[in-house]
Amino acid sequence: MNRLRPFVFHQPTTLDEAVRILAAERGAARPLAGGTDLVVDMKLGRARPPVVVNLKRIRGLDRIEPVDGGTRIGALVRIAAIQASAIVRERYPALWRASCTLATPPIRNLATIGGNLGRGSPAGDMAPPLIVHGALVEVEGPGGRRTVPIQDLHLGPGITCLAPGEVITAVVLPAPPPHGGSAFRKLGKRGGGWDIALVGAAAGLVLGGDGAIADARIALASVAPTPFRARAAEAALRGRPPSEEHFARAAGIAAEEARPISDVRASAAYRRSLARVLVLRTLRDAAGLALDAAVPR
Ligand SMILES: Cc1cc2nc3c(=O)[nH]c(=O)nc-3n(C[C@H](O)[C@H](O)[C@H](O)COP(=O)(O)OP(=O)(O)OC[C@H]3O[C@@H](n4cnc5c(N)ncnc54)[C@H](O)[C@@H]3O)c2cc1C
Repeated sequence: MNRLRPFVFHQPTTLDEAVRILAAERGAARPLAGGTDLVVDMKLGRARPPVVVNLKRIRGLDRIEPVDGGTRIGALVRIAAIQASAIVRERYPALWRASCTLATPPIRNLATIGGNLGRGSPAGDMAPPLIVHGALVEVEGPGGRRTVPIQDLHLGPGITCLAPGEVITAVVLPAPPPHGGSAFRKLGKRGGGWDIALVGAAAGLVLGGDGAIADARIALASVAPTPFRARAAEAALRGRPPSEEHFARAAGIAAEEARPISDVRASAAYRRSLARVLVLRTLRDAAGLALDAAVPR
């Protein structure tokens, strides 16, 4: 790796100050959280920001807290803290599972949820489960605070809808539905988790009183320019019984909705085939949890 090029380093202690500095640089400045993407990119010369704004001295952005029946996860919450959270583990299984498979423990101790989303990678592990959980992204910028549905955050590879000066401050997850279950799976080049996804898949199912699927959500990473919802596959599941036949059909539809590319890591055909397999497995996992939740105790 190369040495870092010189840059101006700011360490604001308030959000207002961070936003003011970032806005003044009109997009030339980059916020820094855990640095596991940004510092690597800077060392490799893929990013050359003249100004870097460290967010980590801003208080209050590193908490997981209850809000209106749901849960608010601050942008500076580290992936290791999500993995360690009993609230996330019990209420948001897809997100919890994704936190267990993002990189290795040393990276998870630095990497933040805000940085994972802010990077705008089509392969990031946090977006698919957050889409399935129906998360909203809180954003603060020169124009004040706004909220963005997670599926609208990413516009293309490395591109988010954030305007210059805007930073992600939190993600807000609604209360999980009763009789619901969710799951996440991914496969990386090394054959398991711990690695950037060749394909990442999350699924969420809600069962109605009649035992049929009342709602379904499926989200995929690394098979399109952005993480996306496989809406046709979701529609094929609603009102159907949670059976292997319907899961297999939906997984095939989701794979057709994908727009994978071939690159050094995998061919488009392999990614599409893998998407089908992973969606099928996440649907089975999610159904298992939903059926368990539906059993009277
Ligand atoms: C060896 C290795 C393995 C990895 N494996 C995985 C993996 O398996 N899965 C995966 O998803 N990722 C993986 N990554 C990528 C990286 O660890 C994650 O994307 C991580 O979550 C980034 O968070 P961070 O806090 O380190 O972000 P940073 O590097 O600090 O920032 C990343 C980007 O987001 C911007 N940013 C940071 N915070 C905010 C904010 N609050 N608002 C707006 N923009 C912001 C930065 O300006 C930068 O553009 C890996 C990285 C390495 C080095």
